[in-house]
This record gives sequence, structure tokens and C-alpha cells, in this order.
Amino acid sequence: MSYDKTVTVVTPHGFCAGVVRAIDTAEAALHRFGAPLYCLNEVVHNQQVVDKLTAQGVIFVHELEAIPPHSVVLFSAHGVSPETFNNARIRKLKIIDATCPFVAKVHAEVRRYASRDYAILLIGHRTHEEIIGVRGEAPEAVTVIQTQNDARIVSLPQTDRVAVLTQTTLSVDEADRILKVLKKRFPRLERPAKTDICYATEHRQEAVKRLATDSDLILVLGSSNSSNSRRLVEVATQTGCPATLISKLSELNAIDFTDKNRVGITSGASTPESFLEACVQQLSTKGFHRGTTLTAVHEEQVRFPLPRDLRM
Ligand code: SF4
Repeated sequence: MSYDKTVTVVTPHGFCAGVVRAIDTAEAALHRFGAPLYCLNEVVHNQQVVDKLTAQGVIFVHELEAIPPHSVVLFSAHGVSPETFNNARIRKLKIIDATCPFVAKVHAEVRRYASRDYAILLIGHRTHEEIIGVRGEAPEAVTVIQTQNDARIVSLPQTDRVAVLTQTTLSVDEADRILKVLKKRFPRLERPAKTDICYATEHRQEAVKRLATDSDLILVLGSSNSSNSRRLVEVATQTGCPATLISKLSELNAIDFTDKNRVGITSGASTPESFLEACVQQLSTKGFHRGTTLTAVHEEQVRFPLPRDLRM
């Protein structure tokens, strides 16, 4: 039997080290302290992960005020501001911090530059939890830059000491374009030696670019509030291949695959592998045969230990 329609999965895709650590942290905290475990916002931006942890006893809330005093609270991989930390302490909550170490590094950079009176330009999405938390380290020093136009018009009280930092899950290419504008405007602009965009974001974008050159359609598996998943859709589209975000299996039924013989699949850093397998399985019922996996970037070696409180 021969197949005309092929689905190609690209690697790397799916869980990154920060997401694995955040989920392991939630499960270890449940094991150590028992249910209910309160989590401020989604521990990672993925509905399947949230549903699974909810079934295990995690209660997701959007406000600390919704958590009874003396409870255990988990802070998500996206991190929180120092003010949120303080408020949790005031409410006598036991804090378990699942902030991704790459996000924690950006917090530390804000503190370092702010302590030396730098104006800090933070490239990222204003309403994203990571940016809210990072900005909260020094709100008076940080200006969020979301677009190239923001970079063109931003005005600072002084231009001698200006530093630029970025959200960890941005489009590498778009961040570079914004950075070019800022460098022209602020020639003495400083930035950390190592980029803030994390390895997982960078690798998944590189991989989807490779996949896009050989596909008629790319399916990016991930939730609509997942920044890195949405960036993968943008990167694939900008590479010239139509791409769409799939957050639920049923969404596959709305796609017209008539002229799509080569479908490429990737998934965001918070999307479970089980969802990818379920999508591939559903595509097989639509006549797609799974081709060889495309390895675009070699194996990722990054691993993080659990927060200290949960290591034993
Ligand atoms: S995408 Fe990057 S910054 Fe975000 S949790 Fe994963 S490793 Fe950490």
C-alpha cells in the first residue's frame, strides 16, 4: 500500500527543561505536602498539563487572596514579582518556587542594572506573566518594548546608562529587529553577555524553520496563551509555510487537508508528548502516514534540579 500523505515530526519539540522542572516540582510538592496545593496562575501555559495537575489536587488561582492563609502556594515557571513574594509571606503561605532558572536569570539582571542606576529596556509582551514579574523587580527603571515602533519612540530620562533585556520566549528574529532599532537610538546600549532568549525557544524556532521548507502546512501543538508556541506559528509563517496552532484534538477536524500532502508537526515547550502522539494518531485516520522524524537540532542536554526544599 502506498501513501501520498506524510506527517513529519521535527525534533526538538515539546517539553523544555524549565517545564519539566515546574511539573516535577508540582508533583513533588503534592507528594510532600498533600492536596490541596495552590498554584498562582497556570504552572505552565498548557491546558492538558493544568487538567492533569488539577485531577491530582492542584487548585489554580489568579489571586493570592483566593488562597487560605498557611496553605502551600506554587509559583509558576513564569516567575512572580518581589511584591507577590512579599504578599505571599504576609499571608503566611509556604512558598514553592517553580520559576524557570532562565527567567530567574532575567530577574537577577534587572536587579543588577537597576542597582547601578541603569534605564532598562525590556523587550517582551506587556501582559505576559513573565514580563509582569521581571518588571516588578524595578518598575521605576524598566520600560517594556513590545514592537519596533515602541523602540522608535521610547523616550528615556537619560541615555548614558541604558541596558536591554528580553523575555525568554520571544521570536529570535523579531527580537533582533527590535534590538537593531534600539542600538541605533542608544549607541551605548548594554546587554548581558548571554542572550535572555532561552535555548529551548531558539532550538524550536530553528527546527520549525527547517521543517517549513519541506512542508505544505505546519501544525504547532500548544495552547493559545503559550508564548513560545505562538512564536513558532509566526516563525513558520514568516518562513513561507502556512501554520496553525492546535490546542485541542477536535481542531484538526476544522482543517482542510485536501491539498496538504506534507504536514509538519512541532509542539511548544509546554505541550505534552501524549498530545503530539494523539494528533499523529488522528491524522492517520485522515490518511497520513508518519514519515521519518526530522532532526533539526541535536539532543538537548539541559536539566534542572528541583527547588532545594523538595530535593530529599
Ligand atoms: S521555554 Fe525556556 S524559559 Fe520558558 S520554561 Fe522553558 S526553558 Fe525556561
